[in-house]
Amino acid sequence: MDNDCLFCRIVAGEIPATVVHETDTTLAFRDIDPKAPVHVLVIPKGHHPDVASLARADPSAAADVLAAAAEVAEAEGLVKNGYRLLFNTGEYAGQVVFHVHGHVLGGEPLGPMLA
Ligand code: 5GP
Repeated sequence: MDNDCLFCRIVAGEIPATVVHETDTTLAFRDIDPKAPVHVLVIPKGHHPDVASLARADPSAAADVLAAAAEVAEAEGLVKNGYRLLFNTGEYAGQVVFHVHGHVLGGEPLGPMLA
């Protein structure tokens, strides 16, 4: 755990979050500032700054995050109409929390990615 990391502190229960899914290795909770009707963040419990470093350091945890995202999408009723799963990676992508997180977005047409 990184004591200066917001999402590590959510994993530790020090900061409240609306948790929608949890496994031994992952946690999923609603985004505090949703950009779509459904906006859930899926994270590994271990601290890794971005998806590339997670995939390098712990491929099994990376797979767990993808599986958890799929389960969240299913539980939130997003599978029929589709949804977006994205990992902002680094400054130019707008990443602001440097504990890797997949955004599960859906519940309405999301429009083209780069519009
Ligand atoms: P990023 O831009 O790093 O990919 O996304 C960070 C996300 O974390 C943003 O969508 C932001 O709304 C969300 N966020 C920031 N602080 C908190 C918080 O304290 N709780 C929750 N649930 N989400 C947060």
